[in-house]
Amino acid sequence: MKKLQEIEGNGGTMDKKNRMLLIIKRLRREYPVLRSALNFRYPFELLVATILSAQTTDAHVNKVTERLFVKYRKLDDYIAASPEEFIQDVRSVNFFNNKAKNILAAARMIKETYGGRVPQSMEELVSLPGVARKTANIILYNAFGMTEGIAIDTHVKRLANRLGLTLHDDPVKIEHDLMAITPKKEWGDLTHLLIAHGRAVCQARRPEHQKCILANICPSRNS
Ligand code: SF4
Repeated sequence: MKKLQEIEGNGGTMDKKNRMLLIIKRLRREYPVLRSALNFRYPFELLVATILSAQTTDAHVNKVTERLFVKYRKLDDYIAASPEEFIQDVRSVNFFNNKAKNILAAARMIKETYGGRVPQSMEELVSLPGVARKTANIILYNAFGMTEGIAIDTHVKRLANRLGLTLHDDPVKIEHDLMAITPKKEWGDLTHLLIAHGRAVCQARRPEHQKCILANICPSRNS
């Protein structure tokens, strides 16, 4: 395999695995500090915040959970919650009704089926109400430091397509494509890196190609 120095600047002919390594290398330099943008103190709170974050900004979710996590301090508080009151507590996020029901149902299932602890496998996590692969990947990596896949959110999806790393629109297929070209030890951070770059430079409406550190290896740089 060619050394990274040899292929740098040769985006047109580089294969996808090498290009991915180079993308990760450059993004790590640009965004050295990586962490979940969602605030939480323990795994169930991350599950709550992640469910609330669908179609809602992380900043807004953090505002909502700042109060929520004071009112509901432990799993049993969610289990004892009045559904009507809980719905009111999260009503400022999109799809609050369904999200509230899923959070309370997930709390009950964690208590009854998993002994009160958020499970630590993809298979068990996706059995919880409101939890699909993206949420499960986020919880596995950010709460437990484990990787079984790559969390595909709206930024990751957009950048993977613009960077020519996938031709798919479906998150599960995109995840499959990215897993095939990314070393497993990078799966967790890749999500954070692409989100950071998506927010800072490669925004949905106005990507700033001219100041992008990936421009010479990105097939969308002239679009
Ligand atoms: S060159 Fe443009 S499209 Fe490609 S990653 Fe950079 S900002 Fe996004």
